[in-house]
Amino acid sequence: MSEQPAGPVIWGGKPSREVNEARFQKLFDEADAMAIQGYVPDGTVVYWNRASEKVYGYTAQEALGGNLLDLIIPHDMRQAVEMGVRWMFDNGQGIPPGRLTLRHKDGHRVSVYSSHTIVTVPGQDPVLFCMDADMSELERAETELRVAATAFESQQGMIITDAQGVILRVNQAFTRTTGYSAQEAVGQTPRLIKSGRHSVDFYAQMWRHLLATGHWQGELWNQRKDGEVYAVWVTISAVTDGTGQVTHYVGAQTDMTQRKAAEAKILHLACYDSLTKLPNRRLLLDRLQQATVSSPRHQRAGALLFLDLDHFKTLNDTLGHDMGDLLLQQVAERLTHAIRENDTAARLGGDEFVVMLEDLSPQLEAAANQAEAVGEKILAALNRVYRLKEHEYVGSVSIGITLFPSQGNSVETLMKQADLALYGAKAAGRNTLRFFDPQMQETVTLRAALMSDLRKALHKQEFRLLYQPQVDSGGRLTGAEALVRWQCPARGLIRPTEFIPFSEETGFILPLGQWVLDTACRQLAAWAARPESALLSLAVNVSAHQFHRADFVEQVLETVKRTGANPRRLKLELTESLLLNNIEEISAKMSALKEQGLSFVLDDFGTGYSSLAYLKRLPLDQLKIDQSFVHDLLVDPSTVAIAQTIIGLGRTMGIAVIAEGVETQRQRELLARLGCQAYQGYLFGRPMPLEGFEQLLCDP
Ligand code: C2E
Ligand code: CA
Ligand code: CA
Repeated sequence: MSEQPAGPVIWGGKPSREVNEARFQKLFDEADAMAIQGYVPDGTVVYWNRASEKVYGYTAQEALGGNLLDLIIPHDMRQAVEMGVRWMFDNGQGIPPGRLTLRHKDGHRVSVYSSHTIVTVPGQDPVLFCMDADMSELERAETELRVAATAFESQQGMIITDAQGVILRVNQAFTRTTGYSAQEAVGQTPRLIKSGRHSVDFYAQMWRHLLATGHWQGELWNQRKDGEVYAVWVTISAVTDGTGQVTHYVGAQTDMTQRKAAEAKILHLACYDSLTKLPNRRLLLDRLQQATVSSPRHQRAGALLFLDLDHFKTLNDTLGHDMGDLLLQQVAERLTHAIRENDTAARLGGDEFVVMLEDLSPQLEAAANQAEAVGEKILAALNRVYRLKEHEYVGSVSIGITLFPSQGNSVETLMKQADLALYGAKAAGRNTLRFFDPQMQETVTLRAALMSDLRKALHKQEFRLLYQPQVDSGGRLTGAEALVRWQCPARGLIRPTEFIPFSEETGFILPLGQWVLDTACRQLAAWAARPESALLSLAVNVSAHQFHRADFVEQVLETVKRTGANPRRLKLELTESLLLNNIEEISAKMSALKEQGLSFVLDDFGTGYSSLAYLKRLPLDQLKIDQSFVHDLLVDPSTVAIAQTIIGLGRTMGIAVIAEGVETQRQRELLARLGCQAYQGYLFGRPMPLEGFEQLLCDP
C-alpha cells in the first residue's frame, strides 16, 4: 500500500511496513463479513479471500486466474460491469458503493453491498479491490418484515401489547371495528374496548389460561367507541424472548356481528311464521315440551287451545289469497292481545292457530275455568268485524281445549286431544269452544277404523249397486236409480246413510263415486245389448265433492266412452246444496255433459233452498219431489200445495217431475191427480239386486 498522504490520522503508533502489511493481509484474508476480491484491468482475479469463497462459492484456487465476468457477473450485467471496470481503471478510482445482485457458483443470485477501490502501486499493474458485504440475510429479514407488516394489516383487528398489556400497536381493521384510531389506542390497555358483559371471573380464567399455555381463544363481547356492543372471536398469543420471558401479547379479533345477525335471522326464520310473525309449529312444540316437563314440577296447570277459523276457505276462494293473508295477520294480532305475555300464540299453518296457556291454577277445575275464560275472550276478539282493505268481513273461530298435565301428556297426545276438541267444536256448529273429553277419542278411533275399512272394502269389492225401479204414469218400467250398499263381512249390509256423509268428509267419496259411475255405465251397456232393456235409464247420485272436481266432466265422459254406455240413458242426480255457488261454472259443466247426451235430475227437491233463480239458469231435465212431501201428502194439506206447486213449476219450465218415496196406491193416485207422471218408491219396488230388477223386465 502507498504511503499515506497528509490527512486524518487513521493508524496510531508507527508500526513497520512489514508489520503493517502482515496485519492487513490477515485482516483481508479473514474478514468474515467482507468478501474481498482483487482484479487486474482485464478482469483476471488476483485476490480472493475466505469470505469470497463463502459468498460466491468458488474456492480461491478455483477463482484465481479466472475472470470476474465469467465467475460472478450475471449475463445481463456483463456489459455494464465491463464499462464500470474500464472507467475505474481509467480514472484510478472506484465507483460509489451500492447494492448489486451477482451470481453464486451454483447459479443463484447473491445480493451484496459492494465498494470498490483502485489500488495503484508504482511499477505495478493497478488492482481493483471489491469489498462485498453479503446482504442475503438482511434481505430475507426485510422480506419477512414486509410480509409481517402486510399480515398485520389483515381483515382481522390486531393489537400488540407489551408484557404489561399496554397497547403498542393496532392495525386499521382494529380501528374500523372499534372506532379507535391508533393514536387513541396506543398507550391504553385492551380495557378500552371492554363491554362489561363478562364477569371478573371470566377474565381471570382467560388470564390463567393465557399464562399457563401462552394462548387463549374464545368469544368476547366488546364495545365500540360509539358504545355499541359487538361479538368477536378473539385469539391471544404470548410472545416470548429467548429465555421464555413474555415480551408481548398479540391479539387478533374477528368481528362476529354479521355472523351473529345471520344466525339470529336463521333462528328466527326457523321458529317464526313469516306471515304473522307468530311462533311456528316447531317453536310451539318446543315450548310445549318444556311446559309439560316443568308444569308438574311447578304444580301449575297449562292449557292448549286449538283454533280454526270458520269458513276461511270460502273467504280465500271469494276474496282471494291476499285478503286471506290480511285476515290471518289481523287474527294473529288480536290473538296476541287477548293473551298474557308469557302465554304463547302460534300459527301451525293455514288458518290453524294454537294458544298455549301456562301457569294456570293447579286445581284442574279452576284451570279449566281459566282456560275457558281465555277461550271466550278469544272468541269475542276474533268475532269482531275485520277490515280487509275495502271489504268488511265478519269471521268466527272454533276452539278446542285440552288441559295439561293430564295422563299420558306427551306433546303428541296433547296436540291430538286439542285437535279432537276442535273437531268437536266444529261439529257443534262452529263459533264455539269445546273441551277434550275421552268420548271424543273413541269416536275418532272408530272413524279411523271405518276409514281404513272403507278403503279396503273398495279393493275387496264389497260394494254393491242396488237398482230401484222408476215407472211412468202407466206403471211401465222406465229405468232405475242406482243406490250403493256396503256388504261388509263384519258389519253386515250397510246403508249409504252410514258411510256416504263420512266418505264425503274424508274425500273417499271420490274413488267410491267413480266406482258407482263405472258400475252403472257398464250395466247400461249390458242392457243396451238386449231389446227388452235397451231403453232403460239409470240415475246415479253425484256428491258435491265429485261434481266440483275440476276434471269431473272429463272423468264422466271418459267412463261413458270406456264402458260403451249410451249417455242418453245416464242421468246424474244432484242436490240443491251443490248448486249454490258459482252458478256459471256449474252450468258450464252441466251443459258440457248435456251436449254429450247426459241428463240431470235435481234430487230431494223442495227440502233445500229452492231458489227459483237457479232453476231458470241451470239446464235441468227432471225435478225429484222429495220423499218427505210424498210421505205427508195424506196427512198434511200444506204438502199437497207444495207438491202441486212443484209439478206446476216443472210444467211451465218444461222440466219433467218424478215423485220418490211413493209407498201407497193412495199417494200415487193423489200425485197423478196433481199431474205427476213418474214415480219411484216401495210401491213399485225396493232398491234390489240386479237379478231381482231384471226379473221385473220379464214379468212386469
Ligand atoms: P236418495 O238419493 O234420496 O235416495 C233415495 C233413498 O230413499 C234411498 O235410500 C232409498 O232406499 C230410499 N227409498 C226409496 N223409496 C222409498 C220409499 O218408498 N220409502 C222410504 N222410506 N224410503 C225409500 P238409501 O239407498 O239408503 O240411500 C240414502 C241416500 O244415500 C240417498 O238418498 C243418496 O243421497 C245417498 N246415496 C245412495 N247411493 C249413493 C251413491 O252411489 N252416491 C252418492 N253420492 N250418494 C248415494
Ligand atoms: Ca237420489
Ligand atoms: Ca232423494
